[in-house]
Amino acid sequence: MHLHFLAKNMNKLLIVGTVAFDEIETPFGKTDKVLGGAATYIGLSASHFNVKSAIVSVVGEDFPQEHLDLLKSKNIETSGIEVVKGGKTFFWSGRYHNDLNSRDTLDTQLNVLADFDPVVPNDYKDSDVVMLGNLHPNIQMKVLDQMTKKPKLVVLDTMNFWMNCALDELKEVLKRIDVITINDEEARQLSGEYSLVKAAEVIHEMGPKFVVIKKGEHGALLFANKDVFFAPALPLKEVFDPTGAGDTFAGGFTGYLTQSSNVSFRNMKNAIIYGSNLASFCVEKFGTQRMEDLNDKEVVERLQQFKMLTQFDIELTQ
Ligand code: AMP
Repeated sequence: MHLHFLAKNMNKLLIVGTVAFDEIETPFGKTDKVLGGAATYIGLSASHFNVKSAIVSVVGEDFPQEHLDLLKSKNIETSGIEVVKGGKTFFWSGRYHNDLNSRDTLDTQLNVLADFDPVVPNDYKDSDVVMLGNLHPNIQMKVLDQMTKKPKLVVLDTMNFWMNCALDELKEVLKRIDVITINDEEARQLSGEYSLVKAAEVIHEMGPKFVVIKKGEHGALLFANKDVFFAPALPLKEVFDPTGAGDTFAGGFTGYLTQSSNVSFRNMKNAIIYGSNLASFCVEKFGTQRMEDLNDKEVVERLQQFKMLTQFDIELTQ
């Protein structure tokens, strides 16, 4: 009864993005087809907060029920994940360079994503926060069109693939969002500016009030008008596979903001730290493995390390 009451009053996070099969190659090895996708990582990450969350996505008949069960076991609503009879699930494969900071996409097969028409579950049409994860901007737009109440915050993530094949559509969605999360190379591509400060200014003009630029192992920057905030990534002894780190970051960022219901710049700084903290776990094992068994105690302990990493005590004399 008590739990039911709590669940009813929890803020809602709507997640859209790919639920996928990935094949990943890093200097440490190669996987078979494993569970991946932007929405998968976002959902697993956001499950560490006190929020109600749902994923809107599409998979084929080849997608194992156990993967959907995993998401359900993390209290993620999966009724918005359409299963297409006879269809094949979105497939991505990538190979990382030795520095693990850059990668080449070897293959992207849209499969069922090519003609996906997203349907937002009724209970999530008034979500507090909408996380438009990486997929075709037209699908991101269709999700926004189904909202019956203006969300407190709309966050969008995208990548070079969509800039190359759907730039005009992407620019239309950018007019309707509050925050964009994007990596440094993609920020340069989207803006045509090398300096990330100038890139953030140009992207800001395209619509989003807040621009988050992810720099992999070099942390993340948050730009809002004249304000800038920077969070480092935690220096890790071992990094196995950076796949999904950006999405895990986005899941932590939006999970925290949904839970705290405060979308000020000041609170967004905390959200950046929560996102960076969760992303630091994601890279420790291949695919979703580390995020699948991560517990809240580990999350809190590492937050403490984050604090230690960045705290200093300089006295300013004027
Ligand atoms: P990240 O490493 O955070 O950039 O995200 C990696 C995830 O993005 C993988 O699990 C892929 O399945 C997914 N992905 C790769 N390419 C695309 C794409 N073009 N659209 C949507 N998702 C993608």
